[in-house]
Amino acid sequence: MNIKVLLCNCKGLCPSFKDSDFNTLPFEVESELDVKYAVVHPQLCGQGGNEALADILRESAKDPETYIVSGACAPEAQYKLFQKLLRRTGFDPKRFVPVDIRGTNNDGILAAIGEKVAALIREHEDVGAGTSLRQ
Ligand code: SF4
Repeated sequence: MNIKVLLCNCKGLCPSFKDSDFNTLPFEVESELDVKYAVVHPQLCGQGGNEALADILRESAKDPETYIVSGACAPEAQYKLFQKLLRRTGFDPKRFVPVDIRGTNNDGILAAIGEKVAALIREHEDVGAGTSLRQ
């Protein structure tokens, strides 16, 4: 299973991100959590961010074991913002996991992302165990 983490801090201008440090955050995520990588784009829903996300989604769509955890604004907002992109790239929306990382510091973001990553790994292991029990 591969988990790729994308992080967005709303152009660095939004007060919701005033207590976090996005320069150190990707390294913290990569060191603390079982993920393939973590990258920051300051505006995932902008033109450049959309293109970068499209490349990652397109590449990751081929592998059913790859999940994208997107740390940014509210999950409902992210689904709306990225719905077309998910369709266009053929990425299974079930493997796109948006996380709200606003209004906290790096520790809070790490905890929110870590919770999702742990849940994904647990689910994956349960499915694996279920499959082997059936065999
Ligand atoms: S994806 Fe969300 S957090 Fe990122 S720039 Fe767009 S609105 Fe802001």
